[in-house]
Amino acid sequence: MRCPFCSHDDTKVIDSRLVAEGGQVRRRRECTACAERFTSYETAELLMPRIIKQNGNREPFDEEKMRAGLLRALEKRPVSIEKIETVVSQIEHALQATGEREIESLVVGELVMDNLKKLDQVAYVRFASVYRDFKDLNEFRQEIDRLAEEPDQTGSVD
Ligand SMILES: [Zn+2]
Repeated sequence: MRCPFCSHDDTKVIDSRLVAEGGQVRRRRECTACAERFTSYETAELLMPRIIKQNGNREPFDEEKMRAGLLRALEKRPVSIEKIETVVSQIEHALQATGEREIESLVVGELVMDNLKKLDQVAYVRFASVYRDFKDLNEFRQEIDRLAEEPDQTGSVD
């Protein structure tokens, strides 16, 4: 960590302890150049990465937008709202766990598709057809054929 007094980029930790009921690490540091001492606090960062859109624009992750996309794909499908909410949480957790501060919207889309595929294959195809913007019916049919060859993962788990 850089010294806040002289900007030297090497400081040594002289004391380290857990604070805030273990949610934080407090460290006493000493600059190896000017010998000034200072304190740093470390906490786990679980922030949602910002989304990099295909045109390069950045925007905050929008949970409502993702949920709306899932609900649209799952319209009139036998999937409970609890399962949908679980998937929303799982996707968010996966995004946080990357530790990235920015993430391509394509990566999020693939994550949503992977999860939908396990949840409901009809919804998956609906979502993929919009998301992947299948060029023609043939491409769409190929995806459906490909799905038909895969073992059914949705089964009757309800
Ligand atoms: Zn210093």
